[in-house]
Amino acid sequence: MESGGLPSDSFFQRGAGRFAPSPTGRMHLGNVFAALISWLSARRSGKRWILRIEDLDPQRSRMEYARLIEDDLHWLGLDWDEGGVDGIGERGPYCQSLRGPIYESVLERLRATGLTYGCVCSRADIMATQAPHQSDGRIIYGGRCRPATMPHHGPEPAGPHAVRLWVPDREIRFVDGVYGPQCVNLTSHCGDFVVRRADGAWAYQLAVVADDALMGVTEVVRGCDLLLSAAQQIYLYGLLGFDTPEFMHVPLICNAAGQRLSKRDSSLSMERLRETHGPGEIIGICAHLAGLIPEPAPCRPDELTGLFSPDVFAARKCLTIPSSL
Ligand SMILES: [Zn+2]
Repeated sequence: MESGGLPSDSFFQRGAGRFAPSPTGRMHLGNVFAALISWLSARRSGKRWILRIEDLDPQRSRMEYARLIEDDLHWLGLDWDEGGVDGIGERGPYCQSLRGPIYESVLERLRATGLTYGCVCSRADIMATQAPHQSDGRIIYGGRCRPATMPHHGPEPAGPHAVRLWVPDREIRFVDGVYGPQCVNLTSHCGDFVVRRADGAWAYQLAVVADDALMGVTEVVRGCDLLLSAAQQIYLYGLLGFDTPEFMHVPLICNAAGQRLSKRDSSLSMERLRETHGPGEIIGICAHLAGLIPEPAPCRPDELTGLFSPDVFAARKCLTIPSSL
């Protein structure tokens, strides 16, 4: 039967995964691992794979790094259908720094709920209210600027202020593809959280939800350091009337000392790794770390799609690279 639709209709209906790096440096082995797992998860079910450049931080983001990330992904054989610096696709732009008007319209929708308010607290004001046992670095906003009654439709302060979103004192439940059932109360996890900073910069939480929803992302695969923040995003999806994607958080790659890899681990940056390894060797190392293959033998990403399942991680939070690397 003549559908009259474009061939892309079924392509879009299959959903999408995404890789969303910040172009603040060269990728390292941990970033490659996250990209590979996201790619495999999307490809094993025929989904599109989107490359989004998360360059919200103008001080640290560099377009040259975004180009290098693209070059490294091409070299590794991790091809994307949509996105990138040049913005292939119809749901762009795919660099967050170019999406300000989109975030503005999403913020207006949040304001219309009456659940946002202006906050003039300095960091010192907020730190002064933190309980001493909060040693994990999380900052919980105590509600100093919150209007006495919510929802609230009054004006925000005239001067510089952040915009915060009120959160309910109830548990948000979701099932993670790797770590299973989760339960987070946003009041005790983070308190009312910032959706736009006082300097006008967009908060990650607002941007990531706007982007994933409007780009048609149906599965979010990323490092397990972001596991609990999914609750903030699920709350935002609900307020904005967007369909919530599936979440799959994956273990972080740690060095031999058990620390999460960072840009400081320069020996594992793609710049160094490409001097001594071929693309198949690096994919093989990541596939072995994930438990997809018994030895770190060279392979191509497309040879691994049939082997991938979230079960391979057995809910581990950290995978340690061999000291020989
Ligand atoms: Zn405040």
